[in-house]
Amino acid sequence: MTGRILVVDDVATNRIVMKVKLAAACYAVEQADCGLAALAVARSAAPDLILLDVVMPEMSGLEVCRRLKADPETADIPVILVTALADHASKMAGLEAGADDFLTKPVDEVTLLARVRSLLRARDTARELKLRGQTTPGFAEAAAGFAARETPGRIALIASGPKGAVLWKTALDDRLGGEVSILPRDAALGSFGADDTDVPDVFVIAADLSHRNEGLRLLSDLRSRPATRHAATVMILPDGDAERAAIALDLGAHDILYDPFDAAELAIRIRAQLGRKRQADRLRASLRLELEMAVTDSLTGLHNRRKGLFELERMLARDGTAVAVMLLDIDHFKQVNDVHGHAVGDSVLHGVARRLRSALRSGDLLARIGGEEFLVALPDCDAAHALSIAEGLRKAVAGQAFCLDAVDRALAITLSVGIALSRPGSGETTQSLLDRADAALYGAKAHGRDQVTLSNVSAA
Ligand code: GH3
Ligand code: MG
Ligand code: MG
Repeated sequence: MTGRILVVDDVATNRIVMKVKLAAACYAVEQADCGLAALAVARSAAPDLILLDVVMPEMSGLEVCRRLKADPETADIPVILVTALADHASKMAGLEAGADDFLTKPVDEVTLLARVRSLLRARDTARELKLRGQTTPGFAEAAAGFAARETPGRIALIASGPKGAVLWKTALDDRLGGEVSILPRDAALGSFGADDTDVPDVFVIAADLSHRNEGLRLLSDLRSRPATRHAATVMILPDGDAERAAIALDLGAHDILYDPFDAAELAIRIRAQLGRKRQADRLRASLRLELEMAVTDSLTGLHNRRKGLFELERMLARDGTAVAVMLLDIDHFKQVNDVHGHAVGDSVLHGVARRLRSALRSGDLLARIGGEEFLVALPDCDAAHALSIAEGLRKAVAGQAFCLDAVDRALAITLSVGIALSRPGSGETTQSLLDRADAALYGAKAHGRDQVTLSNVSAA
């Protein structure tokens, strides 16, 4: 993995030692020798991560961290505080200031690199989210709607025994607004489906459950299952077990903590993970939205042209299926626009789409492929059936005039339909099939509109 890391320390030797360690792991290193320089480099060079010395003359690392987190330009950059002071109060102050972790000098290399890898992975998500927010139309609204539905957060505790679990829960209940529950190991694996809405947002897992390393294996399992792989995980390890802490981070743990831990510290770390998890959830929601928008016609909610033709290809590619392909075109639609205005035209299109949809079965394909032109494709369909369905679609539109708020009289709307039947194994291309349907449609128009025509010329 590549990444640019800013090392901030007032002592040149410390910076060099850190630089050597990071460069050996192929990271590019920037340096700053005081707080103000750090803030300037963080803005200008936008590093992927910052290793920040706490004790510096003029501006302390804590103050630098606070300022980084308060500036939208730099707020997303993960910060690891590095200090010789290992006391609890300064550690808590660091986490409160928004730091992601706190390492004590001399820094253990294995822990450092595992932590860096883990934070860089999380950073990628945050960065992509930001990019999407700027490039996806409708994203901000969707994200806001998504945020409005957010719950305070569900936290599941998986400890080595019931006693430990209860202790954890008691310690967290007062400190976290969310829902904290104790979960047996098997329930964590067995009880969640991919679409469940009650999947925990954060799992807190002891490294050793009834067997040594069982918690680590559970972590891998949770990360690999569809229902739980987006949840955040915090691994609790025996004090000083830096080696397995590094393994946990590489297995995908989002954070680690040594037991016995301070409940306030665990609560802060869980809250940070909840925040990250929400960001990632929003990113996925925006991706879904974007996919949806790419295939949907916004006026009618039907498949758009691209998706309609794609699905048609797919239906035709199914072995041995005779497909009826229909092109439907509203008659004299230009007049509707000319007489009543474009907005009324839009309402008619919307209404026609609704009637067509409810006249078809769910496996039938319906798409709006042009201004007032629709595509229908029916699988496993012969000529008689196709004609009867097409007649049904024609009547669904012509059979009842459209009553619209903006128009004082009901509008009589009709459409014409051209049908072409595919013959399995004939080798006819999709385009040729569509051309034949189009020719049949032209025939229906030429013969007076409001009628169905079947293409009787099959491809050679
Ligand atoms: P024909 O019976 O031969 O199909 O006549 P027509 O008037 O329906 O066909 P023509 O192709 O001449 O006109 C289609 C009209 O559809 C022209 C265009 O303004 C209108 N149209 C296309 N897309 C939209 C849309 O999204 N909204 C509205 N309101 N009108 C649209
Ligand atoms: Mg038309
Ligand atoms: Mg037309």
